[in-house]
Amino acid sequence: MRVYFDNAATTPLDPSVIAVMTEAMNHLFGNPSSIHADGRMARAAIEEARKKVAKLIGASIGEVFFTSGGTEANNMVLKNAVRDLGVRRIISSPIEHHAVLHTLHNLKKTSHIDVDMVAINEKGQISLDHLEDILRGSNVKTLVSLMHANNEIGTMIDLDAVSELCARYGALFHSDTVQTLGFYPINVSKTKIHFLNGSAHKFHGPKGVGFVYINADSMIKPFIDGGSQERNMRGGTENTAGIVGLAKALELAYTHVEERRAQMAHLRNLLISHLLEEFEDIQFVGDTEGGSYKVLNVSFPPTPKSELMLFNLDIAGISASGGSACSSGAEGGSHVLDALAIDPTRKCIRFSFSHLNTEENVLFLIDKLKSMTPVLK
Ligand code: PLP
Repeated sequence: MRVYFDNAATTPLDPSVIAVMTEAMNHLFGNPSSIHADGRMARAAIEEARKKVAKLIGASIGEVFFTSGGTEANNMVLKNAVRDLGVRRIISSPIEHHAVLHTLHNLKKTSHIDVDMVAINEKGQISLDHLEDILRGSNVKTLVSLMHANNEIGTMIDLDAVSELCARYGALFHSDTVQTLGFYPINVSKTKIHFLNGSAHKFHGPKGVGFVYINADSMIKPFIDGGSQERNMRGGTENTAGIVGLAKALELAYTHVEERRAQMAHLRNLLISHLLEEFEDIQFVGDTEGGSYKVLNVSFPPTPKSELMLFNLDIAGISASGGSACSSGAEGGSHVLDALAIDPTRKCIRFSFSHLNTEENVLFLIDKLKSMTPVLK
């Protein structure tokens, strides 16, 4: 038996997503920019997908642009907000995804913008007071970039509270919503947000396709120059099957959001209670109560076996990770755990859930953990 608890890294494709993609690959092969019938069919499918995505997040059709994924969207927003909108200062946090942090590092070097980091507490929660202080501290054109849910520890920000603060001080607001799109309702017609992004493979869609929402009042110019695809916003022949698959996956995610949420939250709680009742010295990293129901980051006590725990879980049939997917293979440490000053001798493992997980999966994991970490007598 193999059990997959690494759904924050990526999720398995939904069979009905595979079905619409297969149909698209078979019948929508035309170049969406061609004006003949084959091209028009592909174009129509892409526009239908855009309409679905826009409706699901409360955006206008002209505010949704398909990209190669979350990383491209983060790069596009941050780099082009500096280039096109006159942003001279970006406020972010030390636990953002590398797609944000490395982009900021480059922007600082190449565009000489100021980057300020908002303070976080030991659970990874941002300090709204500190954010307000920083916002108040300067009049230069500012963009705030804060992820909705952290991919390693699940800690979330209050999108409405942050967006209101940004609005009060005239700052643009970008949220990397890659971990929450399809799992939490997000409505850009209610929340004052200028940019957000999604990645299909995080919600049972295909890899290599995502989208960016750009508020019509904060339009940037293309990130990738080329043809006039994506309403002149992104050159390159569209990934028709991927885009169709993304829209189907997002539609399914929001259609079933409540039942999926209930099931994943139940499994997460079940894992928490078994860990606390059966094992010695278990701790949790992040905001166990208020954080995302997708992620549980468990800190195990140091033992001679704990260093090899991820490897041993894998051998036992369980996929989990040590942090973000980028570091899980290499076990190269985690900037998120470092920022939280987690005791480096403890072993932190991220278990992340999907609606495809079962109680049996959790019990299987608990059983396997018994030979890897000390049990309570
Ligand atoms: N942002 C967050 C919070 C993520 O978890 C990820 C995926 O690991 C990304 C961005 C990057 O998305 P993609 O894999 O589509 O480039």
